[in-house]
Amino acid sequence: MQIRIGQGYDVHAIADGLPMWLGGVQIPSDRGFVAHSDGDVAIHALCDALLGAAAKGDIGLHFPDNSQQWKGADSKDLLRRVVEMLSADGWKVGNVDITIALQSPKLRHHIDAMRSTLAPILGAPADAVSIKATTTERLGFVGRGEGCEAWAVALICR
Ligand code: MG
Repeated sequence: MQIRIGQGYDVHAIADGLPMWLGGVQIPSDRGFVAHSDGDVAIHALCDALLGAAAKGDIGLHFPDNSQQWKGADSKDLLRRVVEMLSADGWKVGNVDITIALQSPKLRHHIDAMRSTLAPILGAPADAVSIKATTTERLGFVGRGEGCEAWAVALICR
């Protein structure tokens, strides 16, 4: 059996009056992410981790942010396409682990909803989908509420 690992990173700016989507779930907030798509940084980092594991480039290559096709895109749809791309080459998702850095709101109560949203798209059990959240103790651009960062690692096998 072949096993590969990949990592991904994403960041989006935060502004007033925009929706906040994270891990495929809308987070109640009067501030959200500035983006061409729905700005789901957690899914974008995850897509890059999966693409990285299969050495298939990155999310910007497959879903360019200057293309009308992906304007306002639901990131769950992008993730679905990435999983299909990998599965066409025989890859299955082993497990994934995502860390989201956001100063506010607190994400703790939304984590399980994110896991159960992403698991079926990944074709993996929910216990193979880890999502963690942290603040940055008010330090840096995340701490000032200017943006949100996410990191992901993914293991795939065939
Ligand atoms: Mg992004």
